[in-house]
Amino acid sequence: MTASRVLVLNSGSSSLKYQLLDMTDGSRLALGLVERIGEETSRLTHTPLATGGGERERTDPVADHEAALKAVSEELDADGYGLDSPELAAIGHRVVHGGKRFTEPTVIDDAVLAEIRRLVPVAPLHNPANITGITTAQALNPGVPQVAVFDTSFHTSMPEHASRYAIDVETADAHRIRRYGFHGTSHAYVSRQTAALLGKAPSDVNVIVLHLGNGASASAVRGGRCVDTSMGLTPLEGLVMGTRSGDIDPAVVFHLGRVAGMSVDEVDELLNKRSGLVGLCGDNDMREIRRRIEEGDEAARLAFDIYVHRLKKYIGAYYAVLGRVDAVVFTAGVGENAAPVREAALAGLEELGLAVDSDLNAVRSGEARLISPQEARVAVAVVPTDEELEIAQQTYALVSAGRAGREGPAA
Ligand code: ADP
Repeated sequence: MTASRVLVLNSGSSSLKYQLLDMTDGSRLALGLVERIGEETSRLTHTPLATGGGERERTDPVADHEAALKAVSEELDADGYGLDSPELAAIGHRVVHGGKRFTEPTVIDDAVLAEIRRLVPVAPLHNPANITGITTAQALNPGVPQVAVFDTSFHTSMPEHASRYAIDVETADAHRIRRYGFHGTSHAYVSRQTAALLGKAPSDVNVIVLHLGNGASASAVRGGRCVDTSMGLTPLEGLVMGTRSGDIDPAVVFHLGRVAGMSVDEVDELLNKRSGLVGLCGDNDMREIRRRIEEGDEAARLAFDIYVHRLKKYIGAYYAVLGRVDAVVFTAGVGENAAPVREAALAGLEELGLAVDSDLNAVRSGEARLISPQEARVAVAVVPTDEELEIAQQTYALVSAGRAGREGPAA
């Protein structure tokens, strides 16, 4: 029996998301989520997909990530997918920050784990939780290869002129300050799927990918390689997001310190949690914002307009970076579902060969699809993202090839 299952773990500070996939056909066997780990109100929801059983729920308190993974393991066991089964080929971990060093998915050993730890100062909110997920899975499943798939890897191909900030080089290098970019597994997956939708090889197409979820980022992908992306040292830079400001004059930070007496942590919280759509109108869900606009709500309208204006600026910027664009593609919660965002972001760009067919744009579908008019010079597409499948595929490819891909120069 060949091991063909991959467990994908996405470990947050108080949550653990997981999916078990069968890599013979990429199908999902089961998925679930443990929420509020460490609290009295913990909840595990588990859905066995292949066996056709309904969602199961557990509400007994889950003390820590180890208890969470044990509970997940029991649920999988009950479906006949025990993690001690020889059919489990590997565990793939989503790791947010891989710095410059991790350009590819990487089999985790002590040195790799130490390097992920070394990156905690540049990803204080994310890497510690990812590390906990890894060490817990290692302890519970010592015989199973563990692979890290980094949100940053796809962006390590960015040229120096796109990844460096124009600040003093010594200071930047001493603190590893540069533009890393995030959502890389999504940008990689969606740009490849877009090439497939156009019937071309990824190496033959230039694509602008707009990943618009609660977090949002744009990337310019030339021939399958990322040449620029909107997030930077952290996921705060770039587009207007659900709760993050995106681009802002850095002097706003000094001003708030000097004039409003705010501490660095307070400004951090303001820009990451109380800005973006939520800061502008009190809601970060695009469905709610659209509903309020329909009712004539001015704050919701302005928030929408600011969101779209920023998006349009990035489309224009990445058009210029790429020179020739074959497709603009929308993905993630807002990108896949919010037709008004897609229409407004491309409105008035006909001179660039960009247009949206309103009928096609209005179609609701979970499939990858074109929404540009047939004669359009540049394709506009909606492509559902699937970060778990991408992580599983990268993990499986690595362990199947039996190579420990720790490439890339030391940071
Ligand atoms: P993340 O993974 O970043 O949490 P998602 O990609 O799941 O986010 O996107 C979540 C967002 O997608 C929601 O906050 C909401 O704004 C938007 N969204 C989801 N469904 C719809 C819909 N039907 N119409 C408009 N926006 C939607």
